[in-house]
Amino acid sequence: MTEATVAVATTTSQGACPPWCTTPGGCDARTAPHPDDRRHHSWTVVVPLSLEPPAHDMRVGPVGLEVYLTSDPQELCARLDQHRGDAEPAVRVFTGEGAAACYSASVTLAEAEDLARGILALIEEARRTR
Ligand SMILES: [Zn+2]
Repeated sequence: MTEATVAVATTTSQGACPPWCTTPGGCDARTAPHPDDRRHHSWTVVVPLSLEPPAHDMRVGPVGLEVYLTSDPQELCARLDQHRGDAEPAVRVFTGEGAAACYSASVTLAEAEDLARGILALIEEARRTR
């Protein structure tokens, strides 16, 4: 476990929000009456995807649900996400927000570290062999 992982894991509790939580208004019963909604969220890493077509969105039109492209670039996003009962946060990786969201996965901190190291190794390999 890295130093950063230890710092994150020790912030879990049923009490106050961890220092990384940015959920507006907090995450307790006052602001989230349903227990499933009491989740801590961190700030979000947002990376615009220049190689992907513009984002799509959906709306209900005269013939039903319509999918259309927007001028917004697709984005790959990541943030910490932790239900108040979870032992440690997960990293949620997702594309877009709201209706534009089309992919989402939650990974453990260890899995996120493996992914980050793997991507950095691939980048280093590509740049070294140019
Ligand atoms: Zn919180």
